[in-house]
Amino acid sequence: MRTVHTSVVVPCFNESEVIDAFHAALIAALEPTATTFEICYVDDGSSDRTRIRLRDLAATDPRVRYTSFSRNFGKESAMLAGLRMSQGEVVVLMDADLQHPPELLPRMLELHRHGYDQVIAQRDRTGEGAVRKALSQTYYRLVRRFMDVEVLDGAGDFRLLSRRAVNAVLSLPESNRFSKGLFSWIGFDTVSFTYQNVERAAGQSKWGGRRLLNYGIDGLLSFNSRPLRMAIHTGLWLFLSALGYALWIIANVLLDGVETPGYATIITAIVALSGIQLATLGVIGEYVGRIYHEAKRRPHYVIRETDTSHAAAADALTAEVMESVSSK
Ligand code: UDP
Ligand code: MG
Repeated sequence: MRTVHTSVVVPCFNESEVIDAFHAALIAALEPTATTFEICYVDDGSSDRTRIRLRDLAATDPRVRYTSFSRNFGKESAMLAGLRMSQGEVVVLMDADLQHPPELLPRMLELHRHGYDQVIAQRDRTGEGAVRKALSQTYYRLVRRFMDVEVLDGAGDFRLLSRRAVNAVLSLPESNRFSKGLFSWIGFDTVSFTYQNVERAAGQSKWGGRRLLNYGIDGLLSFNSRPLRMAIHTGLWLFLSALGYALWIIANVLLDGVETPGYATIITAIVALSGIQLATLGVIGEYVGRIYHEAKRRPHYVIRETDTSHAAAADALTAEVMESVSSK
């Protein structure tokens, strides 16, 4: 029997402005539910006072635990560390900026009691810029088409996972982690409900356009090799049309015997083809890079400090996972 029922995992990167408000709101939401709970904060190498704040919180409240990274490893790694740290029967992942309203927790726990292994709180897109809205909607349409797993629009990382779902996620060893996909990949009974999008309470979003674009590419590439297949198809069709074109020119020459100076055609063909070759090479390179990355088998993060012996438990789990991977 586990000693805590609910673990709340919170990745934090430079959140000192909002962390106290968040903590108070979280406690206020959890206490009335009468579940035993722990809060696992993961400081993702913040450069502000977040780490010091978390250390204080952990020292004063036994229900608070924290792990701090040696540098910024990204939200995916922070979530992974939090999941490894968590001991509860259910685990809730949420952001520290109050964009994931803690008031929704009782409802999520209630849905879990009805037997769901994953409860997704899905935000709508109120208050979001029109451009960003359109871009993300296009992206999700693209993802649904090309990925083997289903990812809902607006379903971020605010979700509840049962212990067996967490164990399933932790058993996936890849180092390029795209959680949205992983959560969907593991399956289990999933339910989602929508809540109204809220603005970040304080501080700044860490996701600029470039970071989002990279995240999007990660998502598309990490779940299948369909982009590679697409490159092959494009290449094939181009080859066939080029062949057709060549035959047509030869026929022309044979019939009319005239040779028009095809300078423009040649240049166009060269430019188009080399563009496609470069793009294809890029796709292939991306996959090779990923293989290289996975082959190095680096850990996902380096821990600077953590509250207690839980670090040992996490290490043991890592060793276990690594072993099960290498014995395959
Ligand atoms: N975060 C993190 N590491 C990072 C970037 C973000 O742990 O490198 C955390 C951040 O502290 C917050 C959550 O991930 O709790 C979501 O980040 P943010 O609010 O900046 O993203 P947005 O809501 O704008 O998508
Ligand atoms: Mg946010």
